[in-house]
Formats: sequence, structure tokens, C-alpha cells
Amino acid sequence: MQLYNSLTRKKDEFIPREAGKVSMYTCGPTVYHYAHIGNLRSYIMEDVLEKYMVYSGLDVTRVMNITDVGHLTSDGDTGDDKMLKGAKRENKTVLEIAKFYTDAFFEDCRKLNIKKPEIVEPATGCIDDFIKVIEGLLEKGFAYIAGGNVYFDTSKLQQYYVFNDFKEEDLAVGVREGVEEDTNKRNKADFVLWFTKSKFDDQELKWNSPWGIGYPGWHIECSCISMKHLGEYLDIHCGGIDNAFPHHTNEIAQSEAYIGHKWCNYWFHVLHLNTSGGKMSKSKGEFLTVSLLESKGYDPIVYRFFCLLSHYRKSLVFSYENLDNAVVSYDKLVARIAALDFNDKNIDNAAFAELKSKFTEALDNDINTSLAITAVYDVLKAKTNDGTKLALIADFDKVLSLDLISHAQKAKSGKNEFEIPAEIAALLEERAQARKNKDFAKADELRDKITQAGYIIEETRQGTIIKPAN
Ligand code: AMP
Ligand code: ZN
Repeated sequence: MQLYNSLTRKKDEFIPREAGKVSMYTCGPTVYHYAHIGNLRSYIMEDVLEKYMVYSGLDVTRVMNITDVGHLTSDGDTGDDKMLKGAKRENKTVLEIAKFYTDAFFEDCRKLNIKKPEIVEPATGCIDDFIKVIEGLLEKGFAYIAGGNVYFDTSKLQQYYVFNDFKEEDLAVGVREGVEEDTNKRNKADFVLWFTKSKFDDQELKWNSPWGIGYPGWHIECSCISMKHLGEYLDIHCGGIDNAFPHHTNEIAQSEAYIGHKWCNYWFHVLHLNTSGGKMSKSKGEFLTVSLLESKGYDPIVYRFFCLLSHYRKSLVFSYENLDNAVVSYDKLVARIAALDFNDKNIDNAAFAELKSKFTEALDNDINTSLAITAVYDVLKAKTNDGTKLALIADFDKVLSLDLISHAQKAKSGKNEFEIPAEIAALLEERAQARKNKDFAKADELRDKITQAGYIIEETRQGTIIKPAN
């Protein structure tokens, strides 16, 4: 499999250190708010990567952290504490917020068919591990104490900027409004490993450490959680592109300084989902979540399909118009699958192998998901029997996870089987029109009327189905 590697800036053949086994680490969410659908784009594409590795016969162990401490709004050592901000916003404790949004995150993942990694570790559960590594870095001379905090000394490294050509002066520390330069730092790129002199007087979560009561910086958690579960060597590390600098750069700095050799061979970065207004942000305008899409009548799987239609290394623009196009394509695709003969159980092995090779070629070439979906259409067009086609689509869907077969089965059996009174049909039609016009308030009002009349509305892939409540 060829994968683009941010470290070498080219496509490399993916060769795990131990034949047949892959250790994979994923930066998990910062659980101070719902994940937005941009965050989830990254997790969808990482899910495809993991599933394709498993599909190719590799034994993958995947670890994800949950960031519940230490992440400041700047991604560096400046700005507010994100968790504290979330807790204040909702008048709850940091741990309450963390629990609520961790659960919400995995619920979103479930709806998007994103597999939960086998090991999920909240940062607050690993404080002793962080302290051990920070002590090691101090002993080796890669860290220093200043103003009560412990800092990583980037000047001790041969190369710090591994992913990009940033120069120190490009780091606009102290230039941005409201961002104060930390005068404790010996070098601008240095970063905090442990805060004791908290600039947040009301910091809730604090722990004892050899350097005083305090809390860890954000970057140290991923290095430590990865090493704790996957050892000193990591095959592949994933995250959104914004994580490459400073987060992953700092992870590499401290991990390699601590273990004394190269840590991770492959770095997989997913480009951002943007809106036409630019970067997607939790603080800007309408906050795009899976629940919001659902409330507008979209099946979350269609969002997954939308993401898979584009390559992970291209930024993707979200708009409802683009999503609507994906809905149309998805529904047509499911309808074509539903038209196949599900009783045909014969498999043409030669056709199966040939059509499967198109799918694997696409994904072997840097996880080209849009070509992998083209391979599904190629199956539908192919001159082979329906049993072979269905077997291939079920096989591909182990990686794509688009529920293609189950939705096609539902489509076969999901037609309305009873008389709908004319006035209810009229309300339904009016509601469909309101939805088309994006007048969701009106659509909701009409739904209520239909429900009050004793009918249940169900959104299915093939459109709206209505049936009597009992
Ligand atoms: P966070 O919860 O902020 O720690 O981010 C969780 C993941 O989402 C990280 O891998 C980020 O790099 C990624 N991410 C953040 N914003 C976007 C976006 N607009 N599009 C895709 N991935 C993103
Ligand atoms: Zn991380």
C-alpha cells in the first residue's frame, strides 16, 4: 500500500516494523464541546485507513487519547484552557463536561460507522506516565524549569521542524492580539510539558508532581499514551492537518528525545473540511454537528458517503447543496443495488477477483476513496451475475461502511403497504415541499400535524415512509 507520508513529503510504500502487525495512534477529540463534522471528516478517513489495513490482512492495534486536560485555545501554550471554557459555559465541572462530550463523540462515531479504537485513554488517567517521561526529559537535559513550569528545550534537537519549513520568526508569538509572549521560554518554539504556575486561577484539575501542584501540557499526553500502549515504536500516527504543527512536531520532539531513536515512521494527515466562509470552527456561526444534520433530515451515513467521494489530502468544502447532491447519488446507488436479485447466491470467482482488484488498486494508491466508490459502480455495470455483484459490494463495504446492502434490503421491503388518506398525503406533500425550500420550521409543524392524526413518519434512504401509529 502506498501512503502519503507527511514526514517524507511523498507517497511511501507502507511497511510496518513487524510483518503483518500495525501499531496506529490517533489524536482523539478535545471533549469540551460536540465534535463538528470537520473533526469527524478526519475520523471517517482514519477509519477507512484502519479498515483497509485490516481488509488487507494486517493486524491493527489502534490507540486514541481523549483530551480532557491541557489543550489551550491556541494549540500552543497561549489562550484559554478549552476544558475550563466548556465547563464555565455550561456551569458544570470539567469532568462532567468531559464525560458528556466523550459519550457524544462516540455516539456520533457510531452513527457514522466509525469503529471505536480498541484502546481509548483519557489524558487525566495517565498523569503518572506523563510525570515519568517529563522526569526523563529533565534528566537527559531536554527540558528545563522556568517560572515554575517545565519546558521542552527545542534547541537541544538536531531538527525540530520536521513537517514544514517554519522558521522561528514565523511563529507569531506575542504578535497576535491577546496572546502574550511567555518570557520563561528560552526559545520561541519551546513548549510547556507541565504547568505549575497556572495562568488560570480557577483551574479545576491539578495533580501533585515533583515540580509542584499543576497539570500537563497538551502535547505530552499523546506521546505518553502512545508509548504506554504501543511501546517505543509506532508505525503510523493520524490526525487532522492542523495537528501537524505544533502538536505532532512537539510529540516527535519529546518522544524521540526520551527514547533516543526514531519513533514513528508514517504520518497520515487529513485535510480540512471547510465551509464557503472558510475554516470550520466551533465558535463561528452555525455549529455543524451530526445532530444538526439529522435534525434537517439527513442520514449521517450520507455525510460519510460525501466525505468518501473526495480524497483525504484535498480540502473539502461543505455546503447543503453539496450534501444534497450526495443524498441523490447515494439513493440512486442504493436503488441500483436493491434492483439486484438477492436470491442469487452464485459467485463467479474470476469476475469477483477482477472487480475486487480495481477496488484494492484504488485504496492501495494512498486511500483513494472516490476511486474505490467508482469501483462499486463498476461492479453494478459489469457483465456478471447478481450474486457476484452483491458479494463484491458486501466485501467492499467492510471498508467503506456505507450500509449499502442493508439499506438496499430495506429499500426492497420498505414500500408503503396501506392506504394513506388523501388529506394526510397532502400534508406529506406540503412537508416535502417545505423541506425542499429548507423551511424546517414549517416542515416540523407539518410533521406534528401528521403525528397528531395518528401516523408515523420515517425517513429512509428511499424517501419518506408513512405508516399508521398502531
Ligand atoms: P480537536 O477536538 O480540536 O482536538 O480535533 C479533533 C481532530 O479533528 C483532530 O485530528 C484535528 O486535527 C481534526 N480537525 C479539526 N478541525 C478540522 C476540520 N475542519 N476538518 C478536518 N479535521 C479537523
Ligand atoms: Zn495528539
